[in-house]
Amino acid sequence: MSDKPEKFIDENGLRLDGRKLDQIRDVNIEVGVLARADGSCYLEFGNNKVIAAVYGPREVHPRHQQESTRAIVRYKYNMASFSVEDRKRPGPDRRSTEISKVSREALEDQVFTEYFPKSAIDIFVEVLQADAGTRTAALNAASVALADAGIPMRGLVSACAFGKVDDTLVVDLNKDEDNYGQADVPIAMTPDGKITLLQMDGHLTPEELKTGLEMAQEGCRQVYEVQRQALMDHYAKMQGETAEETEAPSVEDVVSDEEKVASEDVSTVTEEVEEKVIGESVKEEPEVKEAIPIEEDEENEVDGETDEEPDVEEDDFHE
Ligand code: ADP
Repeated sequence: MSDKPEKFIDENGLRLDGRKLDQIRDVNIEVGVLARADGSCYLEFGNNKVIAAVYGPREVHPRHQQESTRAIVRYKYNMASFSVEDRKRPGPDRRSTEISKVSREALEDQVFTEYFPKSAIDIFVEVLQADAGTRTAALNAASVALADAGIPMRGLVSACAFGKVDDTLVVDLNKDEDNYGQADVPIAMTPDGKITLLQMDGHLTPEELKTGLEMAQEGCRQVYEVQRQALMDHYAKMQGETAEETEAPSVEDVVSDEEKVASEDVSTVTEEVEEKVIGESVKEEPEVKEAIPIEEDEENEVDGETDEEPDVEEDDFHE
């Protein structure tokens, strides 16, 4: 771990990484990066690098977690052991359990869960590189991955922290500011300003909290713009690809003049034949085949049970 810097803000009012007090780190988003997930997103927030995958709506395993009137949302935050300076012990711990819980709560309300009773929407986020603010980066990625999965939502969730260093409020803390600062307040909000996550580590006056929240909300708005743009670019690209694949070449492109003449002849002949045949065939009764019922596999009908192995382990989402 690096030593505590003497001061966090220089004489020009800039922070150690050159940012202004109210400036967030650069956000880069790539949508649809995983072929096997229903929705996915790779996101960089400064030096944080995270990847989110969304599966569902799908069957709930274990079944006792199933809700009859709505879908359950599960969120798993995991930090790769190589994501931090000193190797992190792999596997779940109290911190990742807490982050998974608050992040799920931050997203769940935005999802129209009532549209998918008895099903699960599973969100996995892997932190590949950590540099303070991984829970906010993870939430931003998860929100985009949900949209990419086509899950109906009230709005995207955008997250960003604010904090206090050298008795000054700053937005989106970096590693040193997070480690040695006086306060760290991650927040998440919807585009209409509803706060869905607010945690606080450290001490702030009510005035500082109010001002800091306004700063972080502006940060969230900037993140939202990047999320929205990334989704729009992704779908514009997909639409372009689909249009290219389906666009039928025009007759002029593929048919030579000779062929056109030939095809005109054929259509004239066809019209003549049709006239003749239709004129004669209307007298005949059309033959109607009896519909054959499809046999149902009774074994598979019992309470929707299948022989398939559950693909989600209970421990994966244990809170
Ligand atoms: P967040 O990443 O959301 O800011 P924390 O405030 O708990 O969450 O963590 C701040 C930073 O501390 C992380 O982004 C990461 O860089 C570092 N960190 C967290 N947990 C560990 C760990 N187990 N080992 C090493 N570094 C860690």
